[in-house]
Amino acid sequence: MSRRRFAAPVLLALALTAVTAALFDGARLHAQARPTAPVPAQPVLVPDPPHVCGSCAEWNGPRQPFKLYGNTYFVGPAGLSSLLITSPQGHILVDTGLEQSAALIDANIRALGFKTTDVKLILTSHGHFDHVGGVHALARYTKAEVVGSPQTARALAIGAPTPDDPQAPPTPPPGVDYFPAFEGVRGVKDGETVRVGPLSVTAHHVPGHTPGATTWTWQSCEGSRCLNMVYADSLSTVASDGFRFTGGNGRPSIVESFRASITKFGALPCDIMVSTHPQASNMDEKLKKRAALKPGDADPFIDPGACKALAATSMKGLEERVKVEQGKK
Ligand SMILES: [Zn+2]
Repeated sequence: MSRRRFAAPVLLALALTAVTAALFDGARLHAQARPTAPVPAQPVLVPDPPHVCGSCAEWNGPRQPFKLYGNTYFVGPAGLSSLLITSPQGHILVDTGLEQSAALIDANIRALGFKTTDVKLILTSHGHFDHVGGVHALARYTKAEVVGSPQTARALAIGAPTPDDPQAPPTPPPGVDYFPAFEGVRGVKDGETVRVGPLSVTAHHVPGHTPGATTWTWQSCEGSRCLNMVYADSLSTVASDGFRFTGGNGRPSIVESFRASITKFGALPCDIMVSTHPQASNMDEKLKKRAALKPGDADPFIDPGACKALAATSMKGLEERVKVEQGKK
């Protein structure tokens, strides 16, 4: 076979290979450009702009999430409480911290091995930016129903403390107390129980720190041992300049109802109590003690006197405030 006779078929074969490859690539590109089925978009938490305040960075510091007891977990940042109560039929989240806490709470829930999108109810303590700032982002992400007292529902609807709140700014916006508004919070009555699957959590109205303050109670079990869990709303007398708990400036006294709230709180069945700011229930000390536990030691988080102790401190704080307002101190 001469060189020329050999070259012609080889060139033809090479040309055919190139054409086939080009056609195949074209078909592949065509297939890639036209996906056969749309891929469903995964929901993503879209945070609201961060809140700016003197304590915000410290409050929103990182914190390792941990089990409090049974199916109850702490998922909040360093200085703001957020609890997750879990069940195979969905979870309940209690409080959401600041706007910038929402992403951290989401990450903490996932770090524990749960899905944030399995949260079916978000419960609220009171309508201040440091406890409900993350409601809007977390509710939008999870599609969970948001629940609180009717007064907290009103605060969330306007994205600010209601005008009868001791911390309502004397002159309306703009103010540091504002947070993302959220319409459609389900208002619950005092003593009402809310449910998700086997979970049931009861609301206790404790007006004083805010008109809509709500403490939540439920039981968590490990084996046959069930404990009374309490998420204690704030009972402190923080107020805007000029506000008087004893009344005045066209407002009635709220001292008696505040005292009644504190007494009611102190009488709750209480084995493990967490306050809205974890420092108020010495959470870091308890964690340190728990880390150093020896076999047979009692869990420092189990303290049946915790609610009574917080009630006593809160009552002292209220009576001191009353004396100051009455000019006796
Ligand atoms: Zn507050």
